Amino acid sequence: MKCRQCQNPESKVLESRESRDGRTVRRRRECIKCGYRFTTFERSEEQPLYIIKRDGTRELFNREKLLKSMSIACQKRSVSSKSLDAISDWVECACHSSDEHEVTSQKIGELVLEALLRLDPVAYVRFASVYRAFSSPEDFVLELKQLTEKAQNRTDFSLDLHKDSELMES
Ligand SMILES: [Zn+2]
Repeated sequence: MKCRQCQNPESKVLESRESRDGRTVRRRRECIKCGYRFTTFERSEEQPLYIIKRDGTRELFNREKLLKSMSIACQKRSVSSKSLDAISDWVECACHSSDEHEVTSQKIGELVLEALLRLDPVAYVRFASVYRAFSSPEDFVLELKQLTEKAQNRTDFSLDLHKDSELMES
């Protein structure tokens, strides 16, 4: 939601109230940049999901784009396209369930990493190297260190992926 005062795309929701028929949501918002407060009425059905990019601009969530970036990371790995589909579904669903239908590209990246971590460590590191813009070997070492820590901490992970059994057992 663009600020009506300064056009900044990011605002925080102060209050959210659904209309009686449940079709619109009234939101009291405050601009993150200038603090201007305004009210929006948003349709609560089929809300598009917006990605807030690092530079603050917004764009519509693009599933194809997400799939493409993941399949690049999974090249020559035995990760099925079914698994990538499942990750996309999961990411999209996780983002839609948030109150605002806006999600940062950072959050999406972290969700994808969480899923890839479970599926294929090599794809995970590849995706991380692009997503986190690794620039030195030390970046890889640090990521691998965190990867090991995360691997010890997997119990709360609930994503139900189509398992590539040979891969998971290796
Ligand atoms: Zn503003």
